[in-house]
Amino acid sequence: MAAVRLTQRIVVIGGGVLGTMHAVAARRRGYEVVHLEREGEARGASVRNFGLVWVSGRRAGAELALALRARELWAELGAAVPGLRFRPAGSLTVAADDAELRVLKEAAARPDAVQRDVELLDPGGVRAANPALRGELAGGLLCRADAIVEPRQALPALRGSLAGEGYEWRPGREVTEIVPNAVRDHTGAWHHCDLVILCPGTTFTGVAGRYLGSLARDGVRRVRLQMMQTAPLAERLTTAVADGDSLRYYPAYDLPARSLLPPQPPAAARTRAQLLMVQRADGGLTIGDTHDYDEPFAFDVDSDAYDHLQARAEALLGAPIPRVQRRWAGVYSEVSAGSALYHRSEPEPGVVLVTGPGGRGMTCAPAIAEETFR
Ligand SMILES: Cc1cc2nc3c(=O)[nH]c(=O)nc-3n(C[C@H](O)[C@H](O)[C@H](O)COP(=O)(O)OP(=O)(O)OC[C@H]3O[C@@H](n4cnc5c(N)ncnc54)[C@H](O)[C@@H]3O)c2cc1C
Repeated sequence: MAAVRLTQRIVVIGGGVLGTMHAVAARRRGYEVVHLEREGEARGASVRNFGLVWVSGRRAGAELALALRARELWAELGAAVPGLRFRPAGSLTVAADDAELRVLKEAAARPDAVQRDVELLDPGGVRAANPALRGELAGGLLCRADAIVEPRQALPALRGSLAGEGYEWRPGREVTEIVPNAVRDHTGAWHHCDLVILCPGTTFTGVAGRYLGSLARDGVRRVRLQMMQTAPLAERLTTAVADGDSLRYYPAYDLPARSLLPPQPPAAARTRAQLLMVQRADGGLTIGDTHDYDEPFAFDVDSDAYDHLQARAEALLGAPIPRVQRRWAGVYSEVSAGSALYHRSEPEPGVVLVTGPGGRGMTCAPAIAEETFR
């Protein structure tokens, strides 16, 4: 009598947040998972980000719905996996002047403001919500749906929660070949499976290249960001913080008052900078970011952008930031054409390719993985 296979085996390629969330989703559904990552530990966008689960900036409609579902899933995961350090801290997007405040007023008046759980605050309200913000400001938008996780700890913590029968983490294995029902890594070892889920992040060459080559032309691009992190701040930043420049970039603020905003200062405009600031669990501040779309990207970091971001952070805090200890750049891939929120395709039978979530990848990864299995 032929053996009946009760469990299907999935190979997940890529140890970033998309690959890891697919591993989590697959285990929840009872699949065996072999998880391959070419580095000893993920080193890409998934560990270089703010750890912001960011609902406030999402475009109304499908993007907001995806982020809200992901926020629910992060909260569930956070309860089950304390190592994520999930904090439902919310965020404050702070207006420096009346022009920025008008955008926030329009944002607070939208029909979906209830879903985002937003509230327009005057300067006193902003300081009551986040007493560390002692600088000059015109008001702020509190978004209670926004949350924070620790990006450098989240992936090992999630994998730790999967450890045991049915889950095999194989770092230091670069997949070099995909054939029906198996993949081969660079050591020559074959990993047999019923399904391959390929989450290669920004790697548009190698094994993903044969699928991504045309995508890179057809609407998936890479974006480079600069970031920094300070020594611990002596007090608590109770929420994540964004400045008025973020109103220029996030689709949620594509509102009539946005067109009346004055131009950004030259250093900010040149590097497409916006201030986002998050306090890490150890008290340090992660501060960013910039946006560069032109490849080949610089391999060094630009001080003008950092000076601008530091000045904005200090203006909001009304005090110097602690010493900057780390500076880095990160790159994500994003779908840049059409209305898709990310790219998912089945380039050949039994191979699912998922990439391109852009600057919302950390936020949306759990919901994207859920959609793959739907
Ligand atoms: C600076 C910065 C800040 C950001 N901030 C936020 C934020 O606060 N909130 C938010 O929602 N999003 C944020 N993002 C976006 C988010 O981080 C990304 O969308 C997300 O991390 C992408 O995850 P990924 O798994 O697709 O890619 P990656 O993290 O790049 O992971 C892909 C992995 O695949 C591996 N790999 C590739 N090819 C192979 C192969 N052949 N074999 C084995 N392994 C392979 C790579 O080594 C890599 O580890 C930010 C991004 C950056 C760069």
